[in-house]
Amino acid sequence: MHSFEHDTDTSRTVFGMGTLSRVPEELRRIGGRRALVLSTPGQRALATRVAGVLGDAAAGIFDGAAEHTPVEVTDAALARAEQVAADSVVSIGGGSTTGLGKALATRTGMPHLVLPTTYSGSEVTTLLGETANGEKVTRTGPEILPEVVVYDVALTTTLPWPVTVTSAVNAMAHAVEALYAADRTAETDAMATDGIGALARGLRALHLDADDLDARADLLYGAWLAGRCLSAVGMGLHHKLCHTLGGSFGLPHAATHTVVLPHAMAYNAQAAPEAMRATATALDVDDAAAGLQALVARFGGPTRLGDLGFGLADVPRAADLATARPYPNPRPVHHEGIVELLTHATEGTTIAGTAPEYSQPPTPDEENR
Ligand code: NAD
Repeated sequence: MHSFEHDTDTSRTVFGMGTLSRVPEELRRIGGRRALVLSTPGQRALATRVAGVLGDAAAGIFDGAAEHTPVEVTDAALARAEQVAADSVVSIGGGSTTGLGKALATRTGMPHLVLPTTYSGSEVTTLLGETANGEKVTRTGPEILPEVVVYDVALTTTLPWPVTVTSAVNAMAHAVEALYAADRTAETDAMATDGIGALARGLRALHLDADDLDARADLLYGAWLAGRCLSAVGMGLHHKLCHTLGGSFGLPHAATHTVVLPHAMAYNAQAAPEAMRATATALDVDDAAAGLQALVARFGGPTRLGDLGFGLADVPRAADLATARPYPNPRPVHHEGIVELLTHATEGTTIAGTAPEYSQPPTPDEENR
């Protein structure tokens, strides 16, 4: 019998091909008349295109979005918003641009429309991570959730294959951890398995045909579901490790998720067998952790933290940070196990079958902690 508590959030989603043309009407719907359009420097041309579609409803462009939402960038964007008398924010890009849009919108109360171009899922979450003085602090609140998300599959076709792989696995991580979250519900379970399935299907198909638009649609749809999982339930060990590695060691967000996820899954496998079975079925592999790692390798994705600027010498400090205030996790998080996990992730150890290196059930001591 189901037993759960369920709150719904209040944002609007438009999903399809060519939906960029809907942006002026969707902006008006949330009360925007003069939007500041945000992007990274690399997506300036796309921001200019969006401003063109908005016409008079575009007040200006700010193209300084950067990973981990540095507060200095937010201050510069705020100054630009004031300068052009913006009354709304339109973010076009991945999680970095969406993070900047959230930071602006929550500081000013301006309505926020997002056009996602990666699979980060940030556009449908109530979470905002900001970096000040080298430290990343994450907060959550309903005011952070963008009012409208317009998913246009056409905007994702330019995403290079390596970023497509890492961004899709970043999305999978939200769904995998949702399947063993203590506060998961029947709805999040359904979104998670559907999301993982769509992401895996999309990657396989796009790997065979780089122009497959249905595959791109599957990936974006899976990212939407996975992002909603991220917002709905608490994340576990995997996200704690990635927040530590990104926030304190400056590792790239999606690539780090891609390397760590199979190892975090292997660590949790014995303590969350149902979640692992559901993940394996959705991925269409025999063993969830080993199968995902093999898929990533087949797609040419990163499999070693050692290739991302993290070394074995960094492992002890990362383990200290990751175990100091651990997130809730199906298997107790203990220092020795995390050192082992990070060592394997750094060296790119192949996870075999049911991952014997982590397969011992928790000791009574661990269970009582
Ligand atoms: P990103 O936004 O940094 O984008 C990566 C790079 O790809 C950028 O240079 C960008 O310009 C480029 N790019 C994006 N879309 C493209 C496209 N379609 N074609 C070509 N190039 C494209 O990467 P990300 O992984 O989406 O976001 C990472 C950031 O998002 C991190 O700061 C992370 O903490 C945050 N994040 C937040 C949440 C949340 O819920 N708050 C969730 C996930 C990620």
